[in-house]
Amino acid sequence: MKKVVKFGGSSLASAEQFQKVGDIIHADQDRCYVVPSAPGKRNSGDKKVTDMLYACYALAEEDQDFSAALADIKARYDEIIEGLKLKLSLNDEFKTIQKNFKAKAGRDYAASRGEYLNGILMAAYLGYTFIDAATVVSFNKDGSFDAEKTNQQMSRKLQKTERAVIPGFYGALPDGSIRTFSRGGSDITGSIVARAVKADVYENWTDVSGFLVADPRIISHPANIETITYTELRELAYMGASVLHEDSIFPVRKEGIPINIRNTNRPEDSGTWIVESTAKKSKYTITGITGKKGFCCVNISKDMMNSEVGFVRKVLQAFEDQNISIEHVPSGIDTMTVFVHQDEFIDKEQNVVSEIHRMAKPDILEIESDLALIAVVGRGMKSTRGTAGRIFSALAHANVNVRMIDQGSSELNIIIGVENRDFEKAIHAIYDIFVMTQL
Ligand code: ASP
Repeated sequence: MKKVVKFGGSSLASAEQFQKVGDIIHADQDRCYVVPSAPGKRNSGDKKVTDMLYACYALAEEDQDFSAALADIKARYDEIIEGLKLKLSLNDEFKTIQKNFKAKAGRDYAASRGEYLNGILMAAYLGYTFIDAATVVSFNKDGSFDAEKTNQQMSRKLQKTERAVIPGFYGALPDGSIRTFSRGGSDITGSIVARAVKADVYENWTDVSGFLVADPRIISHPANIETITYTELRELAYMGASVLHEDSIFPVRKEGIPINIRNTNRPEDSGTWIVESTAKKSKYTITGITGKKGFCCVNISKDMMNSEVGFVRKVLQAFEDQNISIEHVPSGIDTMTVFVHQDEFIDKEQNVVSEIHRMAKPDILEIESDLALIAVVGRGMKSTRGTAGRIFSALAHANVNVRMIDQGSSELNIIIGVENRDFEKAIHAIYDIFVMTQL
């Protein structure tokens, strides 16, 4: 068995956390490839090393003195080295970094040093081989990720290396300069490594025991999701549940490798499994509930709308011309509604309205604001009778007025529009009917 293990910043924020990580890796011989993030926050008031590096480099870019800021970053690593009693010094590495900052090596270079240095520490601590991600992760000239070249390089390299640490978050452009993924991108590196070695599992270790059925800020101690499919996750993530970088799904999905989200502080928890498909039923019919506040909708009616060719396109064009992205478009025979983010829409609303009038000539157009969208997601809904009925009767009992219903064609989700002020109440009602009553 081969396992790729990625550890997030909070799992590597201090020597104490490093020790937990070491114990986890040593507990299972199959954990042979390790992808670390940069040290994260040690407590809520603390700073992530990545943020410290961005701030330090901003000073360098403006030709200001950045030595104190760099010394603070070095202190974070020295504290870990001392705590772990490692015979290792990063003095030379920091001299190089200082020189490169002065030479304006770039923001991406600066940010990537967090993972790079943590990789060196981790390799020394575990006695694993250190592989600089710049030698195996490639980006195209235009900055996009070169998946195939990376996969070839990475598999070739790792075939020859039995146990290795590959820092997350960055790689190199064709000219050798450093390029990073977007924030949280170490998750992507972990997935790339898992694909390259055809791992049996990609373990992503963080500070929560996987995904929860609902947001813990709304439902106290919500139930855990044991297994979720990639598509369900996409639906939930889109509406706000974020544990994993979205792009980290693609590399492993290609190879059918499951992702297991685990908690470094509670390694005994089995966490959440993210899989392509599964015969396992979700415990509660639904897999998860999520949502967001702050939407507007534009309701448009026109007699005989359904037979007018191009009507929908003209309406949507008005939004596109104003560069406003659309969330949902439920429609009836002579009506359609367009949901948009209120803050994106509000300053441009009159432009959109006049353009819709000009292009589509509706009979009635009206705007409603302060709406929330709730997504109830679950692969089990398709085969379970009465799911929608239970959702809406729960909402009616809770006195929540439902303003919109949209069921995706995959029957994987039901999107419900309610007023902002009913958002929490609605989530409670849905959670209670499915999870608390355990039906
Ligand atoms: N350290 C980077 C960040 O803070 C990347 C990562 O942690 O995945 O975004």
